[in-house]
Amino acid sequence: MILDQLDIDSPDTALFQTIPRSEHTISRRLISPRALKVLYRLHESGFRACLVGGGVRDLLLGLEPKDFDVVTDARPEEVRRLFRNCRLIGRRFRLAHIHFGNEIIEVATFRAQHDPDDEESGVELDEHGRIISDNVFGSIEDDALRRDFTVNALYYDIADFSVRDYASGMADLHAGVLRLIGEPEQRYREDPVRMLRAVRFMAKLGFRLAPETEAPIHELGHLLLQAPPARLFDELLKLFMGGQAVQCFELLRLFGLFRYLFPATDRCLRHEYYSTARHLLIHAFANTDQRIAEGRPITPAFLYATLLWGPLQSLLQQPAFQALPANDALQQACDELIRYQNRHTALPRRYALPMREIWALQNRFERRTGKRALAFMHHPRFRAAYDFLVLRAAAGEPVAELAEWWTMVQTLDDAARQRALLVNTDSPRQTKQLAASS
Ligand code: ATP
Ligand code: MG
Repeated sequence: MILDQLDIDSPDTALFQTIPRSEHTISRRLISPRALKVLYRLHESGFRACLVGGGVRDLLLGLEPKDFDVVTDARPEEVRRLFRNCRLIGRRFRLAHIHFGNEIIEVATFRAQHDPDDEESGVELDEHGRIISDNVFGSIEDDALRRDFTVNALYYDIADFSVRDYASGMADLHAGVLRLIGEPEQRYREDPVRMLRAVRFMAKLGFRLAPETEAPIHELGHLLLQAPPARLFDELLKLFMGGQAVQCFELLRLFGLFRYLFPATDRCLRHEYYSTARHLLIHAFANTDQRIAEGRPITPAFLYATLLWGPLQSLLQQPAFQALPANDALQQACDELIRYQNRHTALPRRYALPMREIWALQNRFERRTGKRALAFMHHPRFRAAYDFLVLRAAAGEPVAELAEWWTMVQTLDDAARQRALLVNTDSPRQTKQLAASS
């Protein structure tokens, strides 16, 4: 019987649906013209070409996408032949980058879901089940099933402008739910960074986690200890520099993930060695979110300076460091802390150096008189160090009056400032009066 052979309840047929152009809100006007150009060229050359991932998800939610990722059945070499301005990159994933000035459109070839039991599948796993390499090409359905969340597996097909949904992503998108595709524990084991992505998308989209997607996170956080520190650094920047740092921080703590990213900071937070640590972080993250909302610059160096300030203070209180001259103690404690943190989330030197400088300059604020104090205001890192001082004051460290003084001095004109720095009093108000009257 033909009917017996048609498995109408098979999950793949049940889940797959095509949403025609007339029934969704994605308009080509909202897609980057360069991405459209790439899609059209692939399509005209006989290849399948779709947008996928955050671009499609964000357009459907009425948000402005960060970038547009293209997927195709053309092999990377075939993509390169079609575009002059194309470079192939990556080892774990071989991708085509098509360059248009400073916009890059990333084109990936459909990849297959790995099969952990099939040694021939071309997927390499480490002893924890983590994927090391998976350059296995597949169909669009395969490609959908290896993505992380169902809402990230929606395809906008340039052939007919429809949205293709292979994993019930549309229903989850409408319900505001993040649901991992496949068996959640296995998916986290393959790639523990997915736990951080869950947190980030919750904060960014205001979505909740499906219960079965949330449950394993509370048990599997330790797998982050095996993730490459450089990758964790990239992911951290997305978590803390995406405009929802406060919420991401709270969620990381709630899910027990923060301790695997910043173990020393987490110890400070739990044991209250350094009672203002939590206030400092919350203030710093709130500031960061506000600066991003206002389009002002932020730097990872400042972020790390706040994240590691608590552990730095506890280290400096250890007898071994107390025995050293203050400056040596600070430098050696910095070395130790950076070495330790680098094993968890990488801290590239270009950020580690300014972070140390922000810390080292904190002592210089105590000296308010004389030429050195005046010269300090022209130090290239003065602004960042001053912002950090203000943050410490807001967090309840006993530097409020100092911060107020340096805030006041910056409002004076050059002549008044020179006079202020000659006045020998700690009171900002008195200094200002004296500077104005002399
Ligand atoms: P955004 O760019 O807004 O941060 P995004 O969903 O586009 O969000 P990307 O990191 O740009 O995130 O990844 C693009 C797509 O690649 C995702 O939507 C998802 O389909 C897939 N993807 C990314 N990282 C993973 C992962 N670790 N595991 C499985 N699929 C992933
Ligand atoms: Mg993206």
